[in-house]
Amino acid sequence: VTGLPDVVVVGGGLIGAACAYELSCRGASVMVVERGPEVACGCSYGSAGLVGPGIALPLASPQALREALRWLGRPRAPLRIPPRPALIPWLARFALACRARSFRRAREALAPLGWESFRMHLAYAQAGLEVGLARRGVLMVWDTEAGLAAGREELRDTGEKATFLGPREAREAEPLLRSPVAGAALVADAAHADSARWTRVVIQAAVAQGAEVRTGVEVRRLVVRSGRTEAVETDQGVIRAGAVVVAAGASSRGLLAGAGVPIPLEAGKGYHLDLEAAVQSKRPVYLRDSHVVATPLGAGRLRLAGTLELSGMETSVDERRTTAILLAADRSLAGVAGLPVREVWAGLRPCTADGMPVIGAVDGIPNLIVATGHAMIGFALAPITGRLVAELAAGQAPTFDLSAFDPGRFGRSRRRRSPAGGVG
Ligand SMILES: Cc1cc2nc3c(=O)[nH]c(=O)nc-3n(C[C@H](O)[C@H](O)[C@H](O)COP(=O)(O)OP(=O)(O)OC[C@H]3O[C@@H](n4cnc5c(N)ncnc54)[C@H](O)[C@@H]3O)c2cc1C
Repeated sequence: VTGLPDVVVVGGGLIGAACAYELSCRGASVMVVERGPEVACGCSYGSAGLVGPGIALPLASPQALREALRWLGRPRAPLRIPPRPALIPWLARFALACRARSFRRAREALAPLGWESFRMHLAYAQAGLEVGLARRGVLMVWDTEAGLAAGREELRDTGEKATFLGPREAREAEPLLRSPVAGAALVADAAHADSARWTRVVIQAAVAQGAEVRTGVEVRRLVVRSGRTEAVETDQGVIRAGAVVVAAGASSRGLLAGAGVPIPLEAGKGYHLDLEAAVQSKRPVYLRDSHVVATPLGAGRLRLAGTLELSGMETSVDERRTTAILLAADRSLAGVAGLPVREVWAGLRPCTADGMPVIGAVDGIPNLIVATGHAMIGFALAPITGRLVAELAAGQAPTFDLSAFDPGRFGRSRRRRSPAGGVG
């Protein structure tokens, strides 16, 4: 007897995988419901693959706001915001979250989660999960002196172990780099992996602990009655649940809104291009000024990832933007533009209006747990998110203070009565 309820996890991305694993390791009976034909078919399929405490920074920051204003209206810039009236309240709230004080508070709330999650990533690999984690650090590179100065300040503030390198040393550290770069920093506490493989392996590990995975099943509605989630209604029938975890990525908004839980969540489209590269970079290279990451994923695959586009729930590929990623990478990494392209992909990051994840039980519905909104840092934070969710499901006090991640922070739930007499 574990004291844990039967849990339905909605979403088989890396957050759902980590929740399923941590829950089943504690003895819960878990069912993952994924609408796609297989797990890891959403955003988690194509991330840049970086994990580490220095990756786990808030999306909203004074620098993000400065860059957003500079890039407005430029179709090839790393950020694109096509005008859309429905986006205005989200943007207004995001701009407020970019203030220096809000950013500092958010960073302080995230930092302990980032460090613990990194430790857990290493522990998963050490425990024999074949997640393919390579602990080689990350090389951050700046083209401009201004960028380098801001980067120095950021790394000092986060207390990360970083070795700063001049242009020549940077090229010695990474022979693929071409001049001119202003400088670089080798950040030791970082690792990388293919996030799709990671998700599949972690879900398999949950299955080995007794979890069940149902793919090709879409959750249409959460069935909430008298302050409890009783079931999820799917396109293939109703599944009863002792607790429900919503880890449906960018689609979580609609499901939660249906249960009277308003989360201002927008899809932040990102792209990757997988190139066939006989010669790989030694470790991930994060081109900080152009916001492009080049990650060596092994088997001759070099992934270029970047861009944030607030264009709603659609995954079409805009060639101007993939070309911009390729050219930005080619400016710093020799020969990249000439490499054969194996795959071009676009996926939707779940982005909240305050740039922070949502991790917590819903006020008034204690067995409805939300785990989404991780935007650019979902991979870095997946293990700790899973553990926090498992603690909440077991009715334990979570390891960390979750007030900054509370689903209720965006306003009171306005639950309404459903025609069936339930709530939802
Ligand atoms: C280009 C790019 C680079 C990135 N690089 C990094 C990085 O280096 N480091 C990092 O930490 N993060 C990175 N990220 C962010 C990271 O990938 C995301 O934060 C993470 O994948 C989000 O995972 P998720 O499980 O919440 O969402 P998803 O992976 O989207 O999973 C949600 C799943 O729920 C399913 N689903 C949705 N609705 C329903 C429903 N109604 N019923 C059933 N199933 C449903 C979907 O099909 C999907 O599989 C990057 C993202 C992008 C796009």
